[in-house]
Amino acid sequence: MINVTKTFFPPIEEYTLQLERIWRNQWLTNRGELLQELEDKLKDKLEVSNITVMNNGTIPIQIALQVLGQQGEIITTPFSYVATTAAILWEHCTPVFVDIHPDYLTIDETKIEQAITSKTTAILATHVFGNPCAIEAIEAIAVKHQLKVIYDAAHAFGVTYNDKSIFEYGDVSTCSFHATKLFHTGEGGALFCNDETLRHQLFYSHNFGHNGPLEFHGLGINGKISELQAAMGLSVLPHMDEIVASRKKVVDLYSSQLDFTKLTALQIRANTTWNYSYYPVVFETETQLLGVQKVLNDNDIFPRRYFYPSLNTIPYVNGENMPVSESIASRVMCLPLYEGLGEEDVLRIIQIINKNSCL
Ligand SMILES: *Cc1c(COP(=O)(O)O)cnc(C)c1O
Repeated sequence: MINVTKTFFPPIEEYTLQLERIWRNQWLTNRGELLQELEDKLKDKLEVSNITVMNNGTIPIQIALQVLGQQGEIITTPFSYVATTAAILWEHCTPVFVDIHPDYLTIDETKIEQAITSKTTAILATHVFGNPCAIEAIEAIAVKHQLKVIYDAAHAFGVTYNDKSIFEYGDVSTCSFHATKLFHTGEGGALFCNDETLRHQLFYSHNFGHNGPLEFHGLGINGKISELQAAMGLSVLPHMDEIVASRKKVVDLYSSQLDFTKLTALQIRANTTWNYSYYPVVFETETQLLGVQKVLNDNDIFPRRYFYPSLNTIPYVNGENMPVSESIASRVMCLPLYEGLGEEDVLRIIQIINKNSCL
């Protein structure tokens, strides 16, 4: 069976070596030696000025919304994983959707200003599939209207924009280290914030608000990650270059061999070093997509309809119509892409798609 993705498992000896350190330390969570080492190594690898590794990629969004969103209206994208919208609602904020750009699939910056009201407190946008949002335009709007910018950069591990880590942009950026993501700790995630005062506030919020054992800075939640997951991260991290190189080979095959007369590929924004995290293709119609999906499934190949449905249409959301996002969501499919996916398999997938997308 070929799935849309496959979790990278480091050699078990490498994980065992890390586990032995935990047993020697007799220290399982609350910012142990392995977590601190993982944060240092990620800082070097990503060339970021700071990082707080957390228990997943959703809690850091919620903490950022709790601190910056303040129960206001949050301008957001309808084309993302459900966590982006759910985090807004869970924090008692109101999502206000703005449609997406048809080529980049990120929030359409030209439509943001008309959605701003006196209740708007922040913009939460997703660098979807690792493709950067229109960062300069969003920044200018945020400054003009005094809004905070939170980037859901769950897909964007290792992406750079204008020669700088994508995580350095916005008031807060978050990433997911879930098992299905490019870099993973099983479950895990991270928060990036360059403002020292704000970072301090976000940091204590992820540990129950503690200020030492007897005092509290303020309200907090448990966003901590354990040493067991840090151990996984330390075992996966040294393999990232081979993982990305292997994925690039698959992407290069798709890009050069797929027949794009009836398909559209994702357009990566200029000045971006992309990370080969996903390979979405957009069909001309949903019927075409369903036809191709069926033949692939019959061949034991399981692409995923990332992201369907458009988040403004899910029942508990009540969003306005988002014609571009709804249309793309009904026609987009992510093709299998992971470290170790062999050339023969990729060529077989391409052949099936080329043969069936024109029917
Ligand atoms: C995976 C994902 C998340 C959530 O990350 P978890 O680590 O699973 O909590 C948030 N946003 C997007 C866009 C994602 O793809």
